[in-house]
Amino acid sequence: MPDTIIERLRAGGKKLTKARKALLEILVQSALPMTAAELHVRLRNAKKPMDLVTVYRNLAMLHQLGLVTAVGLHDGQIRYEVRHGRAHHHHIQCRGCGKIVDLMLCPMKKLTSLIEAQTKFAVESHTLEFFGWCPQCR
Ligand SMILES: [Zn+2]
Ligand SMILES: [Zn+2]
Ligand SMILES: [Zn+2]
Repeated sequence: MPDTIIERLRAGGKKLTKARKALLEILVQSALPMTAAELHVRLRNAKKPMDLVTVYRNLAMLHQLGLVTAVGLHDGQIRYEVRHGRAHHHHIQCRGCGKIVDLMLCPMKKLTSLIEAQTKFAVESHTLEFFGWCPQCR
């Protein structure tokens, strides 16, 4: 578990309870973004059960603290991934099976300057997701 995560929790006035630690460890180790339901099952399999409502609550809290990013927003199945220690990136999701793959690139730099020049906004963040059909589903 990266120290930065624990520090951020403390700064947000949250304790790293055993249950939260188990949840975060699964998220840190997961290569793919996970839904609350998937985390719920994984925690149960790891003999560290957490009821689904509590999983949702903890994810909302971690999201608020900026520790996790929500991805795959279009299909009503929000998935979360740990933000700390991972470079800024985007995602592509399969319309068939819902699988999400990281795209380790960001084409938005130029566009951000354009948007700032046009709107005088200071752009803080952006989201960009791609959708298509994975090799198994196409
Ligand atoms: Zn697929
Ligand atoms: Zn990702
Ligand atoms: Zn980007």
